[in-house]
Amino acid sequence: MIYVLDAFEPSGLQYLADQNQSFVPFGDPRGINWHQDAVGIMIRGSQLSADDFARARKLKVVSKQGVGVDNIALSAAREHGVIVCNTPGINSAAVAELAFTLAMAVARRVSEFDRMIRSGSKIVRPRYLGRAMHGKTIGFIGMGNIGTQAARLFRGAFDCRILAYDPYAPMGHWGDIPHVRIADLEELWPQVDVLSLHVPLTDTTRNIVDRAAIARMKPSAIIINVSRGGLIDELALADALRDGKLFGAGLDAFEEGEPPSRSNPLLAFPNVLATPHAGAGTIETQADSSLATARQLLHVLAGNEPFHRVV
Ligand code: NAD
Repeated sequence: MIYVLDAFEPSGLQYLADQNQSFVPFGDPRGINWHQDAVGIMIRGSQLSADDFARARKLKVVSKQGVGVDNIALSAAREHGVIVCNTPGINSAAVAELAFTLAMAVARRVSEFDRMIRSGSKIVRPRYLGRAMHGKTIGFIGMGNIGTQAARLFRGAFDCRILAYDPYAPMGHWGDIPHVRIADLEELWPQVDVLSLHVPLTDTTRNIVDRAAIARMKPSAIIINVSRGGLIDELALADALRDGKLFGAGLDAFEEGEPPSRSNPLLAFPNVLATPHAGAGTIETQADSSLATARQLLHVLAGNEPFHRVV
């Protein structure tokens, strides 16, 4: 049996139905017992633990919508011979667009002004000047599908200078994007006007933007995280914002909770713009990703090699 363990846009479920596949949809009470007879599952953000893999004896394939797989116990999947596949690339444009949007909105204080107008606050405009983006230096950590698309947006819109840090990408990988390749993060911090994060969360990238890094950045800099919570030391970020050592931050990812709880100290700052892990949240992207997740699941269950194998 196929189980759909998260809410998916209908296109993928329609595809399963069109292929005469029976499946247990998300929200169906039978879903609780998926471990008993699932051969394939479709997931988005659900956690899959080592215990899940140990219990799901018939499971052959986990088809994950999107690129991030940090919610899946990959070594357990490997140990139990379960294939894990994802759908990289499909949501890149949407996530890159959000990175760009957050940077612009923070730079021009869009949500700050909006909140002030709605609450009836007096606005003395000269006290709330924004930052221009034209010709500014944008630093990217991670230049995969999303990082490269975001770099193209900043370059095309504002003729920005692109600094790229991605030690794993082959040389000449982004030949179409004028950029300076950075080998050492210590060179990056003091140069950027906007820092945009596009790496997975791993042991190496956890707190890649730590207190020391933030301390080396310009007080006029903006940090954008549309990747994963855990990449930034949130306490250090809050301290820097409190001390006026950054211009602001646009965050789609948080250490705890997406959306974060209202008690998250970062939400106290007017120059923090928060979104609820909505990077891939466009109608177009969700329809395409849902369909790709279902297609890949049936493709692998039919005995084929996944289009995008993780494990
Ligand atoms: P990708 O695999 O195409 O690119 C990731 C890049 O990071 C690769 O080029 C890799 O070489 C690089 N990298 C890995 N470790 C690094 C390190 N230590 N230092 C520098 N670079 C490193 O992935 P992508 O599609 O561009 O996605 C990037 C991240 O965005 C995902 O891992 C995911 O966490 C996040 N994401 C967020 C949303 C959202 O809704 N906000 C949606 C999709 C993906």
